[in-house]
Amino acid sequence: MKLAILSRNAKLYSTQRLVEAGRQRGHVVRVLDPLRCYMQIAPGQFLMRYKGKPLNGIDAVIPRIGASVTRYGSAVLRQFELMGTHTPNGSDAILRARDKLRCHQMLAGEGLGLPLTVFGDNPDDTTDLLGMLGKPPHVIKLNEGTQGAGVILAENAAASRSVVEAFRGLYANFLVQEFIAEAKGADLRCFVVGDQVVAAMRRQAGDGEFRSNLHRGGKASPVRLNEDEIATALRAARVMGLGVAGVDLLRSKRGPLVLEVNSSPGLEGIEGATGVDVAGAIVDFVAAGVRPRPKAPRKA
Ligand code: ADP
Repeated sequence: MKLAILSRNAKLYSTQRLVEAGRQRGHVVRVLDPLRCYMQIAPGQFLMRYKGKPLNGIDAVIPRIGASVTRYGSAVLRQFELMGTHTPNGSDAILRARDKLRCHQMLAGEGLGLPLTVFGDNPDDTTDLLGMLGKPPHVIKLNEGTQGAGVILAENAAASRSVVEAFRGLYANFLVQEFIAEAKGADLRCFVVGDQVVAAMRRQAGDGEFRSNLHRGGKASPVRLNEDEIATALRAARVMGLGVAGVDLLRSKRGPLVLEVNSSPGLEGIEGATGVDVAGAIVDFVAAGVRPRPKAPRKA
């Protein structure tokens, strides 16, 4: 197949690994910067050009769209979809996953476990809103934060209220959650490709930190998931409509709780911790989803 990796930076580990895995399997692979793709939209006709040349005949695209280019990146991806290009993660699914609030509502709607979560708009409601959550500690999260930035642990009611007020003052969207203390600063990253969890790691936060993100000094190690955890990760990805997803779970007294479903999960941490060829699994999954192109009609 002709495969494009939509990525701002060809040098990133994840991008390089996808290129490598694709070429190893005999596919034609190129990296496209989504911000250099430009488009024409006309009734029933969708064109795309790249650095002065038309982009045609791409069978599949693997989107690696960073949070900072979500809007434009997903518009480019949508154009590819309209041109008939296959993608494991559709533009709508990526947009849904980027919004934590929406993600939580969709997961809860399907009965998946998650930390008790509240959100509200009016400052007059803060006390009652936090009351709905029960006793602190509380975790306050910016709706569109990533890599643990904008995730705050408030140990008591006064801290909780003042963080909420500060976020309100900045017109930031946020949600507040119960703190799952028994997770002990660890979470599970389950890497879902199609209907399998192809690799999983446990990330443990460093001393004095409750966030286990690797970018914040968390340490990764391979982990064996139980059946409940596997089923939860697969369901979470399916509910969000993602073929490739990094599902983050907390181990709690009441079973696995979904923290987040990531639509562009990084490969470096998971491949490093587990030794699994995750890039290869993604490329194989994408190739299996590409329908053969109809043969050109023979001339009489
Ligand atoms: P981000 O998308 O920025 O990574 P997360 O919601 O995944 O934000 O939170 C970052 C980290 O903080 C998680 O990996 C987890 O270790 C910790 N964490 C988040 N929410 C909770 C919670 N409700 N209880 C306990 N720990 C949490």
